[in-house]
Amino acid sequence: MMHFFVVLVFITMTLFGLSNNEMLNRANAYIKIDTKSNQFRAYNEFKNLYLRSIIHDDERLKKSALKGIIGSGKKLHIDVMQYEKEYATFNKKSSYHKLKPNKVLKKAQQIKIKSLHKLKNISWYNNKLILKFDKKLRKNQINYFTLYDKKKKSYKYVFDIHASMLSKSQILRKAGIQRIKIAQYKPNTLRLVIQNNKKIKIRFNRNMKILTIGMTTQSKKRKPKRIYTPLIKDKKKIIVIDAGHGGKDPGAIGYKRYREKVVVLKIAQYLKNILKYRGYKVYMTRDSDEFIKLSNRTALANRKSANLFISIHANAVPKRNAKKAYGVECYFLSPSRSDRAEKVAEQENTADISEMNKYSKHSLFKFLNHAKTIASHKLAIDLQRGMLGSLNAHYKGVNDGGVREGPFWVLVGAQMPAVLVEVGFITNPKEAKRLVSNSYRKRMAMGLADGIQRYFENN
Ligand SMILES: [Zn+2]
Repeated sequence: MMHFFVVLVFITMTLFGLSNNEMLNRANAYIKIDTKSNQFRAYNEFKNLYLRSIIHDDERLKKSALKGIIGSGKKLHIDVMQYEKEYATFNKKSSYHKLKPNKVLKKAQQIKIKSLHKLKNISWYNNKLILKFDKKLRKNQINYFTLYDKKKKSYKYVFDIHASMLSKSQILRKAGIQRIKIAQYKPNTLRLVIQNNKKIKIRFNRNMKILTIGMTTQSKKRKPKRIYTPLIKDKKKIIVIDAGHGGKDPGAIGYKRYREKVVVLKIAQYLKNILKYRGYKVYMTRDSDEFIKLSNRTALANRKSANLFISIHANAVPKRNAKKAYGVECYFLSPSRSDRAEKVAEQENTADISEMNKYSKHSLFKFLNHAKTIASHKLAIDLQRGMLGSLNAHYKGVNDGGVREGPFWVLVGAQMPAVLVEVGFITNPKEAKRLVSNSYRKRMAMGLADGIQRYFENN
């Protein structure tokens, strides 16, 4: 879940000299002065306070910080929807594993939907599918991934586009391809699925408002590529696996009171064994039921100069939604989600960096914005594909919750690509039963290992 991005925090408390109260007073003083620069100061202060509240598990401070982030953020026209969502959970007793929609959330969503890109027109040109939108498309708006269902011998090429369309769904036809469907998959996501029993070569190109997708069916019969090869000898790669929670922190409590900390540790241990077998060097933030401070988790990864950091969690929803919510998801941190946000982020970043004399402005900014976010995104896609590939081959009804980006980009702390995996909903009866079975855990771990391997092969 979103809050677990805190696992990725390494901006430690040493950066901040003031006490929480002093800082809160200062932030509240800034926010009262209605100039842009003071709002920025307030915004940054509240964000730092938010960080502190997470690390010290201080709910009261978190509430104040969120309120401040939302207030100052709105004045600065920053997208604070994620913070509003979290703030909304305080009205219903706050819990890390509850994130239920209420009035605030709905309102925020409506605003977001209004500003969404709209699909204007779909057409074919030169055998290519042309999707025309009302606004210029951004790179991070399109998430492309492929799936292969071994049993059905079916290839799926999926585009998730952060946009909306007027009709609910539309079937498109092209000779030689079994099925092409575009639909409003989620309120803010269009999903285009190209499905075929033979491999298709997909090429796509984003140019201003237009997404062009070329698809060529391959005549040559080729065996589908194996999802993984069992053994590689790349001993140079170091992976830190972080099993979420532990010790006094059980994580989510789900169906039949199954505990997240137990499930994720088991999967983490299987993953460790598979990766070691495949020749990687692996460290665990915890290998038993022990409590580890969040900030120490990425600190370990940094200390070991790991190539990847993977934090494993299980999701949860309130009981009344338990049957509806299931599936696997991957999260990565992203610095921004729009051109405007990028500009704002640039300014915010400057403010943050002034406190971080360890880094030069340039190197940190570059580090945050480019290499690591892109790498983390790629890793998240590979992990998601890996999990789905492995699970779909053996289980029915595995839900693809998708790859998502987190808004808390200032929390970027791991010095390597870092992804948070949600292995399923421990509150869903069916999924919880799977999550406590060793065969399912092994399949999950195998899928994650495949994803890691694919990531290293391609990067
Ligand atoms: Zn968790």
